[in-house]
Amino acid sequence: MTPEEAERRTEEAGIRTLRLPTPFAIGRVNCYLIEDEPLTLIDTGANSGKGLDELEHQLAEHRHSIENLELLILTHQHIDHIGLAEIIASRSGAEVAAIDVAVEFLHNYGEDSERDDQFAASLMLGQGVPQDVVTALQSVSRSFRAWGSRPKVTRPLRDGEMLELGDRTLEVQHRPGHSPSDTLFWDAERRILFAADHLIGHVTSNALITRPLDESSERPQALVTYIESMRRTRELPAEIVLSGHGEVITDHVALIDERFERFRQRAERIHELLADRPRSGYELAQELWGNIAVTQAFLTTSEVLGHLDLLINAGRAREVVEDGVTRFEAIGDGPLGDLLSAASADSPTP
Ligand SMILES: [Zn+2]
Repeated sequence: MTPEEAERRTEEAGIRTLRLPTPFAIGRVNCYLIEDEPLTLIDTGANSGKGLDELEHQLAEHRHSIENLELLILTHQHIDHIGLAEIIASRSGAEVAAIDVAVEFLHNYGEDSERDDQFAASLMLGQGVPQDVVTALQSVSRSFRAWGSRPKVTRPLRDGEMLELGDRTLEVQHRPGHSPSDTLFWDAERRILFAADHLIGHVTSNALITRPLDESSERPQALVTYIESMRRTRELPAEIVLSGHGEVITDHVALIDERFERFRQRAERIHELLADRPRSGYELAQELWGNIAVTQAFLTTSEVLGHLDLLINAGRAREVVEDGVTRFEAIGDGPLGDLLSAASADSPTP
């Protein structure tokens, strides 16, 4: 299917794409207005006057207003997706739906973000990121916090639940990895998948290591979780994937396979670096990306650790803690394990 065809079918399904500004490098966020009963908006954009103004204008172009909205669905906990939720809910009285695991985070937004930052800080310090970089990043993160909001979730969703609208059914699919609360909404009849940041066409979504929502203290294997989630998405017979950023995706299987290949290559590159000598997460990040901007320190630490998890799980690297800093060393030379290989093995042959 061509992107033009996909856009036409999306329109025919009563779905309007609203593109709202964010303070992030990724640029605009895609929110989806579903003209159905109830009148539904998926995601909100960030909490800013400019964002609110654009939301009002873009809704008006489709002869709607914030006051008319009846259901607001949040796809995950990131602020470019939840920022205007509080304002929208108070002005419209719309129900606010989000996956159950995100509810507490959303209700405590602010305090929980502070705890997330603490978690990130100690993780980075443990990987050898210098204290001044960590401190600078914490203040950057605090300054972003006002772009979020603390919406009251009136309709918690369960994984696998069917969300019935007048004209369609959306299956709720919890697919963590990019964040712990990533949720997909699957319209099986139309083969349209609302994927938010789980799949983005023009960039690889980061598997950010986030403080677990269930309070467990172990470092989550975010990339491993993300790959497991993507393997499930790969099985869906989706024809149109509506992403949280950028353009519509019409071949999600090829896109996922491409991502898996990139993960594999990066893990192999890290293994080569470790075979040379043991290194910390921070040293690996510098090796891979050069001199890292402060704002990217956590992102790159997450990336490196995610790929190290692939190597560790495959028995090809191990963690050695010395003086509070973790280093990794190469062991073994085998394949990277089933996680990435099975998907390509069952690829349809051309
Ligand atoms: Zn996003």
